[in-house]
Amino acid sequence: MLEIRFHGRGGTGSVLASRAFTKAVFYAGKHAIAIPSFGAERRGALVLAFARIDDKKIYKRTQIYEPDIIVVLDDSLLELVDVAQGLKPKGMGVLNSSKKPDQIKLSKPTKVAVVDATKIAKEFLVEPVVNSAMLGALIKSTEIITFEDLEKGIMSVFGDRLGDRMAKMNVEAARIAFEETIFGKTKGGGNNTKIQTWLPTVNDLPVGTIIPKMKLESGQMIGPGAAVSRITGVWSHKKAIVDQEKCIQCLQCFFHCPEGTIHKEGDTVKVIKAYCKACGICVNVCPVNAITLEEINDYTEIVS
Ligand code: SF4
Ligand code: SF4
Repeated sequence: MLEIRFHGRGGTGSVLASRAFTKAVFYAGKHAIAIPSFGAERRGALVLAFARIDDKKIYKRTQIYEPDIIVVLDDSLLELVDVAQGLKPKGMGVLNSSKKPDQIKLSKPTKVAVVDATKIAKEFLVEPVVNSAMLGALIKSTEIITFEDLEKGIMSVFGDRLGDRMAKMNVEAARIAFEETIFGKTKGGGNNTKIQTWLPTVNDLPVGTIIPKMKLESGQMIGPGAAVSRITGVWSHKKAIVDQEKCIQCLQCFFHCPEGTIHKEGDTVKVIKAYCKACGICVNVCPVNAITLEEINDYTEIVS
């Protein structure tokens, strides 16, 4: 399995880049999954996205702590964050920078592919949104998929979001970046740890973070166990239904359900409709296709 971690800022397209990339991987006939991770939901905030690629189906949905490749969309992050943290010894960095590889300092010497994606984006897209250019550099560095596959991925994902004309301009930005990417090795010894944006351990949390279960003035419950008061089932008009005849009780669905709403009751596997948001993960992981998403017409049926 190949694991890629994207470092960017809110509003600059790292999440869209990871989605376009994984779509391109699908076009290449492999399996892929894209996972975004947001901090503060605002433009400029530090953002992470993750992508996994494999020849077989991928079940792992965690963040990536030991990536094979890091993609850094904003070079100002190089001074704020240890982007190379956890990078595998033979791992690689794909960096947006106007500098040459040996002028860049990361926390450890790292093989890198470098492209001035900001310059390319300003020329081709007018806006300094570098996501498509960075995908061109990523493809050049890894040869996981062909440029033609990437083109299809960009046209599909960017086309849906921005329309065909903008998608084609982004393909061109990716193509130029593909041609202009250079390779080399960065210096090590950089102190790029002013901010740690991910992987907090319990020791990193300030005293007082662990709060008791309590009710805010708004009536909202917070603290341990408060999730039961959030009826995520009303987010969707579909619900997961288990066909008990087909179910072999392997409990794959139980382990993967992000809402923890699947449970075993005697000899049956059940879904509590009040919390099923119809994400479809259980449908995908069930080895015997025992789960389907079915329409719910009456919401009282969900919360009763
Ligand atoms: S994954 Fe499918 S077979 Fe396994 S327990 Fe869930 S419904 Fe049953
Ligand atoms: S559809 Fe999603 S939320 Fe609903 S039971 Fe399946 S995994 Fe859980």
